Amino acid sequence: MSERATYAYGLLGPEAYRRVRTAKILVVGAGGIGCELLKNLVLVGFGNIQIIDLDTIDLSNLNRQFLFRKADIKKSKALVAAAFAKHFNPGPGPVPGGDNVEEDVLKIKGVHIDARHGNIKEEENDVQWMQGFDLVLSALDNLDARRHVNRLCCSAGVPLIESGTQGYLGQVTPMQKGRTECFDCMAKPVPKTFPVCTIRATPSEPIHCIVWGKSYLFGKLFGEDDEDSDDTELEKAKADGEDADEIDNLKKEAAAFREVRQKISETDGAKRVFEKVFSDDIKRLLSMEDMWKVEGRVKPVPLDYETILAGNFTAPHVRVAAVNGTKASKENGAAPPKPEESKAPADVARSAVGLKDQRELSVKDNLELFIDSCNRLSARAVAHPNIPLSFDKDDDDTLDFVLATANLRAIAYGIPTKTRFEVKQMAGNIIPAIATTNAIIAGFIVMRAINILNNDWTKCTNVFLKADPARPLRSYGTQPPEPSCGVCQDVYVPLPCDPSKLTLGTFVNEIVRGWLGWKTNDEGEDMEISVYEDKRLLADPDYEDNFEKPLEALGVKRGKMLTVVDDDGVFANVAFPLCKLPETSEKPYQLPEKAPEVPKKPVQQKETSPSPPPQIVGQKRPAPEDEQDDETASKRAKIMDGIPAGGNDQANVQLVYDSDDDIEIL
Ligand SMILES: [Zn+2]
Repeated sequence: MSERATYAYGLLGPEAYRRVRTAKILVVGAGGIGCELLKNLVLVGFGNIQIIDLDTIDLSNLNRQFLFRKADIKKSKALVAAAFAKHFNPGPGPVPGGDNVEEDVLKIKGVHIDARHGNIKEEENDVQWMQGFDLVLSALDNLDARRHVNRLCCSAGVPLIESGTQGYLGQVTPMQKGRTECFDCMAKPVPKTFPVCTIRATPSEPIHCIVWGKSYLFGKLFGEDDEDSDDTELEKAKADGEDADEIDNLKKEAAAFREVRQKISETDGAKRVFEKVFSDDIKRLLSMEDMWKVEGRVKPVPLDYETILAGNFTAPHVRVAAVNGTKASKENGAAPPKPEESKAPADVARSAVGLKDQRELSVKDNLELFIDSCNRLSARAVAHPNIPLSFDKDDDDTLDFVLATANLRAIAYGIPTKTRFEVKQMAGNIIPAIATTNAIIAGFIVMRAINILNNDWTKCTNVFLKADPARPLRSYGTQPPEPSCGVCQDVYVPLPCDPSKLTLGTFVNEIVRGWLGWKTNDEGEDMEISVYEDKRLLADPDYEDNFEKPLEALGVKRGKMLTVVDDDGVFANVAFPLCKLPETSEKPYQLPEKAPEVPKKPVQQKETSPSPPPQIVGQKRPAPEDEQDDETASKRAKIMDGIPAGGNDQANVQLVYDSDDDIEIL
């Protein structure tokens, strides 16, 4: 036994050490958490690890993904991480699938790491493959892949440890079907959006101004000409009950934009834009008296180009209602700030010596930056008239433009301004990834992994890392499964089959009606059933068009699953994940002799939400159809409310699921 193994053996004891050496562990993701996790697993003495990741190494990863070096850029994360981590425990490792008798476990040194550069959603990663693991550790960065892994683990009955970090926040959540909640038991909030009129006419927070500069003004002047979509958006807002006059006004505004856009590259193009958006538009809004009768709305003040440039402009009061940022206490003072006076030359010079991006800009600074960035962008637009520009937080010209316009708008509306650093973060949705957070979370994943391998679920609590210096770590008992969950409450039956031969009709008649016995209901009537692949409806009582088609022709192949739903809502759903049929099989599918006992749905669920179940209701559409691409949504950071167990005083623990790869080095 190596010296290190002696310590681990001593700490864990012979039983747990044997499990650590022999268990087959799947690590999904070799990024921020994945690298830390792999290192920990190898150092603790885990003997059999498979790691999979589809990403390649990027320069911006190197500040926190310590298994990678500059020379590794563009190489596979999984392969490089495995090759590097292997050095921490040299030796061949226990033979995968071998007997691993007690003596071998102590004698054989090293670790066996099987690294794969690939996507967890590929078809060979099916339910049978998943069943080959004792435990799955998810170190993913997007919602879509997380949900896929969750469902795979549920269908294979393999325990899963979910984890995520976001800035200083982090969490570890152990899960097992039937014992704890699953990833899909928790509701996911939709990304925050703002009503069109708040952005266009009645901003009250700095973020409203930033969204306006970035998503509206920038696009109007330099993006694609979107006359049609613009009108559609406004018509929709009108239909949604927004003020009709206000909408008509916004329409006029849109038409006027086209005019300034055409002349933007002329000498006074920037001035013309300024006068339209910061003076004329505001004056027109002010003339709509009804608009300002709404309680809490504060009238904006038109900005004057010449006065600002001459340094004589007095900014309006910063409104208390809008104050909610770090600069709030400073700006919520008694006297309104006079930007030009409050910035004595010495102050400006001093702050300029510090971090340029964290300097507060005066109203004149903002106007000069606006003119400058507007000229830079229009020069680019003239040079490449057919390539519309788009906002990119790393493109200085676009960032400067959004910074200046957001601040000028904020000043007009009495909203606190932001620094370049702050606008870059807010406009780019950046939450910094912190190596320390990843390291702490990866440490807890390994502790929970050992708990699960020891089958010690009493110690297997959820762990939360919070930005609270007094008590950064919390742990709460695992939550029970959610009875209405559309993933972990399903019954799973792995179905080895040949999808090029098995037709949907055979599946329904032989497997569902025959083998599963879903023929008649309690009243003796024919049981009405529907068949789905993910959210696609393949068959229901009135839709049998696909019965003659083989599953393959319907886009259902190995790695996917067919879900059968009792339309009366009495029985739980039964999901059949498709897996590889042994070549010796004569039939196009194989099933165990005995069908599973399908439980009934909880009665209260039936009363409150009749069938079909929530995750697929309303999603019916004829198959086959392309899968929805929710990559954009899944890339966003997910924050959700969880409910802690154990009567703790901390009522609202926030669960975070990171978006590690969206993050840049700050
Ligand atoms: Zn669930």
